[in-house]
Amino acid sequence: MNMMSKTAYEIPLELKQLITSNQAFHYRVVPMSKNENTLQLKTDNTDPDSLQKELAIILGCTIIIIPETTENIESYLTFNYRKTTVSSSEKLQYEDRFLQKLITTAKDYGSSDIHMEPYEKLCRVRFRLDGKLKEQYTISNTEYPQLVNQIKIQSGLDISQKRLAQDGRITFKEGTEEFDIRVSTMPTLYGEKIVLRLLNRNTQEVSLNDLGFTKEELENYREAIKNPQGIILISGPTGSGKTTTLYATLKELNKETTNILTIEDPIEYTLQGINQVQLREDIEFDFPAALRAFLRQDPDIIMVGEIRDDRTAAMAIKAALTGHLVLSTIHTNSAWATISRLIDMKVPAFLLANTITMSIAQRLVRKLCTHCKTKKNTEIKDFPQGFDIPEEIHHHYIAVGCNQCYHTGYMGRKAIYEILPITKDLEIAIRHNELQIDTYIEKRNIKTLQHNAIRMVIDGTTSVEEVYALLSDN
Ligand SMILES: [Zn+2]
Repeated sequence: MNMMSKTAYEIPLELKQLITSNQAFHYRVVPMSKNENTLQLKTDNTDPDSLQKELAIILGCTIIIIPETTENIESYLTFNYRKTTVSSSEKLQYEDRFLQKLITTAKDYGSSDIHMEPYEKLCRVRFRLDGKLKEQYTISNTEYPQLVNQIKIQSGLDISQKRLAQDGRITFKEGTEEFDIRVSTMPTLYGEKIVLRLLNRNTQEVSLNDLGFTKEELENYREAIKNPQGIILISGPTGSGKTTTLYATLKELNKETTNILTIEDPIEYTLQGINQVQLREDIEFDFPAALRAFLRQDPDIIMVGEIRDDRTAAMAIKAALTGHLVLSTIHTNSAWATISRLIDMKVPAFLLANTITMSIAQRLVRKLCTHCKTKKNTEIKDFPQGFDIPEEIHHHYIAVGCNQCYHTGYMGRKAIYEILPITKDLEIAIRHNELQIDTYIEKRNIKTLQHNAIRMVIDGTTSVEEVYALLSDN
């Protein structure tokens, strides 16, 4: 018997990334090959049929099972995978400490959300890391209900109610640190799915300097927030980092001489010296109601979580007209789209022109892991069809995955911005509703999201894949 040949099966990297270490140990599977949408696995699992069905759901592809001896599986697993989590028996033993561990681990990873989802044979736990979900643990179906109950008790939810979605909150203490977790439950086919959102992350380090503004953009932005009145709007889809930009801005504007009020839903970070108010739609304390109350509180700066409707837009304009600096976010795709959106929200063009000082669009882009990113010669097919590849690109970097980046190929994120200052001539154009925005952007040399995205590909900060949607957005 040749021991070497057994332990020496090294799973190719692209296959290894398909299965986490926990999954490999939990299911006792070793990936062998992948063809189109079919993955071949070796296993010593005694119930290959269930295994096949379960993994098909979890991995989202067709599974072919090849039986293997326990001895070989054991050696393949230990050779290829590092065991990173508590074993199932440990979990049972420390059942009530599992939740604690789960939350502290998520926090250590810098994760924003924990998803727990039951399936027919087991439950999986995923963390949102840098905006993408990644599986971290699997829990057996016998243990899951205990975990659910524990979370529901701690967050003040009704444990007997399993058929309705519920929302609650947990205040989590870890040493001297305390932070809030928003809990949401939802009935699914095999039980309740739970999402924990970790709030009140430490914002001490969040500074405008570290977000991703270029030097020039930052100068422009700092100039704009110095204005004692007017509106600055930040647009982008959910999860594009708008709130972080706003908080970093407030932190910079926060002075003893300034009264800052915020209305938020939810309050994600707490900031010393700033009056933060939680939106309460159940008692009709919505954005417009809060703004109305704020105006009687002698504010200098007002932050409105989001401009969602005509009434909020009208109140925000009113606040800006009466001598306040208003900061807010809005769901649009570009800095210019924000202007059109507000006109759709029935804000008169002349008022808009008078109040908006700056419109910003932003996205979050994952940064390639510097430990494993790999250089590749650029080919036309790497880019979206119709995209004009800049001449200076001869190569770019692709994501690979290593232990340092939890096999995602990425580590950390960076914001990219598109900044549209509302200058006099733009004001006139908005007033008369006559603007060729493309010509304007070109003439003014405004760096669009797309321009900034490609800049990050050129300097190797991110991959083409990560900004693909922005590049094809033409
Ligand atoms: Zn890596």
